[in-house]
Amino acid sequence: MPLDSRRDPRYDILFEPVQIGPVTARNRFYQVPHCNGMGHRYPATLAEMRGVKAEGGWAVVATEEVEIHHSSEISPFNEGRLWDENDIPYHARVVEKIHQHGSLAAIELVFQGHTTPNRYSRVPPLSAHSRPVETEDPLQSRAMDKEDFKAVRRWHRQAALNAKRAGYDIVYAYAGHNLCLAQHLIAKRYNQRGDEYGGSLENRVRFFRELIEDTKEAVGDRCAVAVRFAVDELMGPEGIASDSEGREVVEMLAELPDLWDVNVSDWANDSVTARFADEGYQEPHIAFVKSLTSKPVVGVGRYTSPDAMVSLVKRGVLDMIGAARPSIADPFLPKKIEEGRLDDIRECIGCNICVTGDYTGVPIRCTQNPTMGEEWRRRWHPERIEAAGDAESVLIVGAGPAGLEAARALGQRGYQVMLAEASRELGGRVTRESRLPGMSTYARVRDWRQGQIDKMTNVEIFRESRMGLEEILEVAPDHLAIATGCSWRRDAMGRANPAGISLPDSAAIFTPDDIMDGAEPEGPVLIFDDDLYYMANVLADLLISRGTKVIYVTPDSRVAPFTANTMEQHRIVARLIESDALVKTGKNLAAFEAGKARLACAFTGREEEIEAASLLVVAARLPDDALLRQLKGAQGRLKEASIRTLRGLGDCLAPSTVAAAVYDGHRFARELGQEIDPDATPFLREGTALKEQG
Ligand code: ADP
Ligand code: SF4
Repeated sequence: MPLDSRRDPRYDILFEPVQIGPVTARNRFYQVPHCNGMGHRYPATLAEMRGVKAEGGWAVVATEEVEIHHSSEISPFNEGRLWDENDIPYHARVVEKIHQHGSLAAIELVFQGHTTPNRYSRVPPLSAHSRPVETEDPLQSRAMDKEDFKAVRRWHRQAALNAKRAGYDIVYAYAGHNLCLAQHLIAKRYNQRGDEYGGSLENRVRFFRELIEDTKEAVGDRCAVAVRFAVDELMGPEGIASDSEGREVVEMLAELPDLWDVNVSDWANDSVTARFADEGYQEPHIAFVKSLTSKPVVGVGRYTSPDAMVSLVKRGVLDMIGAARPSIADPFLPKKIEEGRLDDIRECIGCNICVTGDYTGVPIRCTQNPTMGEEWRRRWHPERIEAAGDAESVLIVGAGPAGLEAARALGQRGYQVMLAEASRELGGRVTRESRLPGMSTYARVRDWRQGQIDKMTNVEIFRESRMGLEEILEVAPDHLAIATGCSWRRDAMGRANPAGISLPDSAAIFTPDDIMDGAEPEGPVLIFDDDLYYMANVLADLLISRGTKVIYVTPDSRVAPFTANTMEQHRIVARLIESDALVKTGKNLAAFEAGKARLACAFTGREEEIEAASLLVVAARLPDDALLRQLKGAQGRLKEASIRTLRGLGDCLAPSTVAAAVYDGHRFARELGQEIDPDATPFLREGTALKEQG
């Protein structure tokens, strides 16, 4: 039976081949370039991850941005590198993994310009003018002269030739994300040159045109030449806009490249979180492109719905469905559509935890897909998992993200799984948080797992089943996992108040749990954010939507600093300012009583008083580990009941992100039945002479 025999004919159009210059993509699914925190530093990790995408049915699998020269390098971020032929072997390995599954390999070449300080190479960056680099480094770029333009073109051409030698099928010229010289030259605000590279749009586009022409001339016989171009920077007349110069650039270059990969800039606009934009949010900006070119057009918009994809193709918006995040959350998305398994698709929740890997210099991770980034070092495949030796029984207590993922993956392995949940609802924190403003997609973490479990006959769910020691002993499973989560602390214990502070037993003091349980504090509400991620500002959104006055206080010098890693911080701050919230940074909470809070300057300790009817403390969380500790203290009774193993999972051990809870649940499921040496590193490491590196 052919694989696609169960496919809904409505989706046939998505599996038509697409000609891209001299190469042919076998279907319309295109994994566009995306950063991954692996790059040149974790090449085996990278190659395996890309190979899995190809296996999952993406007809084109692209690299992240790949630096073409040492004078444009973005250390310590782990991007791709093709500075010279020494980098060819690792690219050849990436290509080989992609080709193994019949997909095309694409490479996105980048010359950064003033976006990067070249911290590693220590060579001054080049750009149109001498200007401060985009990072906070005390450094300006050097203005390019004619020789420099020639040199960058030469380096780009050489990188294209090296890419061809590595086996790539598609080579990009890149002018997007506000990250590269070609885009900076097009944008008026960065280019006031008086020579042939400045002034008229024709002149400002010249360099981009040259890169495309050079690449075609160098490798166009065998490789397709794609462009990635930001048709709109979403900054009105200040920037490139799809109703003015963005459109004109496409008109000028319409038939020159073999493929148009178009999006909005910068990266934070291109990869907006679900909190700030819905699926398909780019369509109004990019829809015009197809009317101006006969070449295939690729675009993105966090598409996970096959109907939306079909509609895009039928309406003539796109020829190929581009995806970064949907391909991270579910590398097998195309295959699942092809095989008619739509309800197996694990939809991206748009949280941008994937982006945090790149921003913090470590390999990518994903809330929905715990195997992302683990394909090589732990040999975790997103779809396959080792079958259990015997059908032993496992009781999991708590159906939050950790418990649900453990139950699902153990069910897939063939264990007899019982999942006991105290409340009526499944999902734990994701269910609660999904009711907050902008957070509805978090329910997908629950829904996908619940949907998978519903198909399994060996996983039973028991709702409204609060488990204590006696109940557990009665069930007497072979293996036991406790995933009871955590709750928000009321004593403001956190980074700024390591021992907490003494707060009165006042009805005017709230935690996020109280608000999620329906409390409506009287305003003004002072939100004290020492959590530094989303909870405090999501609750601010909620209170503000109810018309409650908010005072946002944080001991950090920045609002919600971790959200800079999800590219949301600027939107969060703008929203607070626009809603007239009073924002106070660098202030610690010292006391709260009778409508007044005392704040201490985080730098001087100087105190001030501020009036607030209520206090909402968003600081540390308290692991709900009483049951786990009780069980650990009753090992003898567990043994008598033939319970062989006990493990805590997720937030009840160490409160963290939803991604971390899912990952821990998954790891438990993978490791059950294995002898784990607690003294050994449990995964392969790049660059060591360890075991198998293949
Ligand atoms: P995590 O993020 O680690 O998965 P959550 O807090 O999201 O943790 O979920 C924990 C779940 O465990 C909640 O749904 C909670 O109702 C449930 N739970 C807590 N204690 C018990 C218990 N003793 N028996 C059964 N379920 C419990
Ligand atoms: Fe989507 Fe979040 Fe996974 Fe990124 S981390 S792919 S945004 S679910």
